[in-house]
Amino acid sequence: MAGLRAAIELAEAGTVLVVAKDSLRESSSEYAQGGIAVALSDDDEVELHEQDTLYAGDGLCDPVAVRTLVEEGPAAIQELIEWGAAFDREGNKLAFTREGAHSRDRILHAHGDSTGREIARTLYQKACSLPNVTFRSFAATTELLLEDGVGGATMYDAKTQSEFPIRARAVLLATGGLGRVFLNSTNPEVATGDGVAMAYRAGAEISDIEFVQFHPTALAVEGAPRFLLSEALRGEGALLRNSHGERFMERYHELLELAPRDVVARAIVSEMALTGTPHVFLDLTHRGESFIRERFPRIYETCLQYGVNIGTDAAPVAPAAHYAMGGVRTDLEGRTNVARLFAAGEAACTGVHGANRLASNSLLEGVVFGIRAGRAMRETKGTDLPVHDAQERNMGTVGPVPGLRRRIQRIAWEKCGILRAAQGLQEARSELETLAPQLPEERSIHQVALLIARCALAREESRGAHFRTDYPGARDAFARHSIISRDSDVTWG
Ligand SMILES: Cc1cc2nc3c(=O)[nH]c(=O)nc-3n(C[C@H](O)[C@H](O)[C@H](O)COP(=O)(O)OP(=O)(O)OC[C@H]3O[C@@H](n4cnc5c(N)ncnc54)[C@H](O)[C@@H]3O)c2cc1C
Repeated sequence: MAGLRAAIELAEAGTVLVVAKDSLRESSSEYAQGGIAVALSDDDEVELHEQDTLYAGDGLCDPVAVRTLVEEGPAAIQELIEWGAAFDREGNKLAFTREGAHSRDRILHAHGDSTGREIARTLYQKACSLPNVTFRSFAATTELLLEDGVGGATMYDAKTQSEFPIRARAVLLATGGLGRVFLNSTNPEVATGDGVAMAYRAGAEISDIEFVQFHPTALAVEGAPRFLLSEALRGEGALLRNSHGERFMERYHELLELAPRDVVARAIVSEMALTGTPHVFLDLTHRGESFIRERFPRIYETCLQYGVNIGTDAAPVAPAAHYAMGGVRTDLEGRTNVARLFAAGEAACTGVHGANRLASNSLLEGVVFGIRAGRAMRETKGTDLPVHDAQERNMGTVGPVPGLRRRIQRIAWEKCGILRAAQGLQEARSELETLAPQLPEERSIHQVALLIARCALAREESRGAHFRTDYPGARDAFARHSIISRDSDVTWG
């Protein structure tokens, strides 16, 4: 989403190539269900959206970035509607729903629970209508070409098992999230943090990477993917029950099921430990099967595929890695500290989410900051195309090391996951440092897991989604952003 939106903005300045390592549709945007937050309803205000975002970010949001997001959001959404995005309506009016920690009904959705797919479809159609935008799928970017800043990238073509260079006046990293660094994740397989890993290797600053949001309610069925059961289900009244059938959220937070995600995730972990079971249950059955099927068609059908009818039965759920608040550090125009390297969307850290993301703010971030990055990239118009001596090379001999990917993911899940402590984080760091993966995606998850371990170890407090059992409270000394780069250990800014 962020990449397509930036490409549309940039197209008037020259030729734009949009690259995706899988099919163009395979992305987190495609799977985003619940919706997109925007202060557009009659009883909502930009200031209220701003306050809710700042509150969720637990003292770490960049206030100017938040203001930019909530102020520019409404126009960005109106534009999507003009381009054909069909958000759900009640009569003629847009239909807004509520999600956790929002003080108003401000979540727009499309086809019930296929919001991201509808926005991505709209952006793709728009981008296709622009002659300057071309696409290349199944080509993974593996490395940035460096020469007095960034001057292109190398791509890996899985079909020919070869790596080839592409020159560019500027590069935008819009590679999405990093959920697949962890063993359990709601993210698609492409979300391996490649942008963060490549940027780090190129000398870019990475910020707040220790803040990973674990979604409390992913489907927990043996052998099934960790399919997300959107927060919108709880917004519509779904209840959490432990394996004894008891509601438990009243013991953890006054907002019960709609408490902030990190609180709900930790409450579930605690109930799972208390009852000795690998999941709890999410129960919306009191709303009736026909309502559920109509309001959440995709979730209903997908759960059914894995043997769970959420219309008649409570679904087994457990937390899973979901969203990265941190990423490649940028200014409000997507610029990084490396010349001609930009980042937007989940791969970037604008400071908009602070220590915890407010539900449904990420799609909005992708659109708003995609526009801004695309505009800023136009300034590179007129720059000579860089010359590189990078050559095409055959990668046929590099194969996966059996079990390595899973080993890295298990270390990240068990030692850098929902509950963290110095000992586990140190162990994670030492174990990861003994590994040397060669394949592009394995290198990425390894690199990002190490960055998370190092920054989580340095942040000796609990804040937002980062919870240290050995430092369970927030500390003023850490009310700052972590910054790490190839050339410098963790600093605070
Ligand atoms: C299941 C799920 C549900 C969600 N629901 C919501 C929601 O309701 N509301 C909300 O606001 N947010 C939601 N989120 C979060 C939101 O979807 C993401 O934060 C957002 O879509 C990210 O957009 P993006 O453009 O940054 O990245 P993506 O949409 O993930 O796109 C990244 C693209 O980069 C490509 N790519 C990655 N690495 C490489 C590489 N090395 N070379 C080439 N291409 C590469 C990928 O193939 C992909 O095309 C959800 C996330 C998930 C996983």
